Amino acid sequence: MFSPIGSLDLKKTIHIIGAGYSGLILGYFLKKNGYQVKIFEREKKVGGKIQTLQGALGRAETGAHAFFANDEIIQEFQHLGLDHLKAQKRLSKKILLDGKINAIAIPKREIFRLIWNIVFKRPPHITNETSVDQFFRPLLGDFMADNILPAAFLGIYALSPTELNFKSLFDTRRQYSSYLQFLFQVRRKKGFHSISFPQGMNQLIIALRDYLADELITDSHLTSVPSNSIICTDAIDAAKILEDSKPEASSLLKGITYQRLSSVTVLSQHEISEMKSAFGILNPTINGSILGVINNYGIFPAQQRNSHFSYTFVMREDKELIAKLQHDLKNIWGLGHLMEVKHEILYHPWTRGIPHYNHARLHAIDQLKQLAWHELALFGNYIGGISLREIFFAAKRFVER
Ligand SMILES: Cc1cc2nc3c(=O)[nH]c(=O)nc-3n(C[C@H](O)[C@H](O)[C@H](O)COP(=O)(O)OP(=O)(O)OC[C@H]3O[C@@H](n4cnc5c(N)ncnc54)[C@H](O)[C@@H]3O)c2cc1C
Repeated sequence: MFSPIGSLDLKKTIHIIGAGYSGLILGYFLKKNGYQVKIFEREKKVGGKIQTLQGALGRAETGAHAFFANDEIIQEFQHLGLDHLKAQKRLSKKILLDGKINAIAIPKREIFRLIWNIVFKRPPHITNETSVDQFFRPLLGDFMADNILPAAFLGIYALSPTELNFKSLFDTRRQYSSYLQFLFQVRRKKGFHSISFPQGMNQLIIALRDYLADELITDSHLTSVPSNSIICTDAIDAAKILEDSKPEASSLLKGITYQRLSSVTVLSQHEISEMKSAFGILNPTINGSILGVINNYGIFPAQQRNSHFSYTFVMREDKELIAKLQHDLKNIWGLGHLMEVKHEILYHPWTRGIPHYNHARLHAIDQLKQLAWHELALFGNYIGGISLREIFFAAKRFVER
């Protein structure tokens, strides 16, 4: 569980800078608990990376596609008057290996090796520099470390386990088995399931915006940081905001870098046969631009309005997306035919898609926590967890502590 960095006086009006999901959900909990809030958003509309695009053949998400939620989260959505859609259960995850789409299959000898390693191997000593790959490879062996591990992490963090910093993602525990439990629980958390909303993820943003209508100022151009502010932008915008008033913090925030990331949704008459009953396909290599595919109507069938199929390709790019998508579908994925029939493509490129959970981020966050803060704080996914679920709990626990 992560918390905002800094300190606020909750007895005074709290100024939130940035009305993406982080600023809005924090504003929601503050208002609901009786605190005075004002929210400033630079753009004309709120929601930041969460937008739902409407095309002629269907809808597409630009950022988060689903919320991994439990009853505690759903109760708050009910308070906001929101209905939700539950994801289909028992969908498989597939993997792209040697140009072929297959079910994830772990050879028996690898499972025996894993059990042997759990019993007899001790985890390596963890330093601030240890990568996720360095930690897990001795336990998993080369086959799983080369195929399964990258698929799991690239799909969430858009960085390979060799680039991801271990301490950035995990608490340091003692035994190998407890890390494995953690790894598998990421998706199988008890009582949690993926949800979306009948009108797409933007419905959550609209509900938060309407709840906070009296507190929100959009198209705002603040020239200085009001006292008692919490900055809920990404790290790069936070660095700009603090450039003059808190230069040490600004310079540390500049050390945090971002991955270009774009969701490109293809609405096509053609069905990818390997996608039937599948959540999606993961790509464990950094071959080409596509990190993975999400089977939108397979996961949320109620969103399907016509006979088309909807697939979102998550790409590590923000430029020439269509040309790169066409190239990879034909030459790497063997799915060129998706574009040969009637189709529509909806997308939005993000140059600063998600933070790199690398050693530089860990260092910057550790140093930011050491600074003296007075009626000023930072909040957002670069501080801790990337998911809407983690941001939700960080905001809720901070307000209700
Ligand atoms: C392609 C993609 C897919 C994803 N998929 C999922 C998923 O399926 N599930 C999941 O849980 N998470 C997912 N995520 C992660 C999730 O979407 C993000 O963590 C979350 O939306 C980040 O919200 P934020 O408010 O912290 O940042 P942002 O959305 O970046 O919002 C920051 C806001 O601050 C505003 N701002 C900036 N500077 C100023 C200023 N000077 N003054 C006022 N306002 C300012 C910006 O305009 C913006 O509105 C995905 C992310 C991406 C990019």
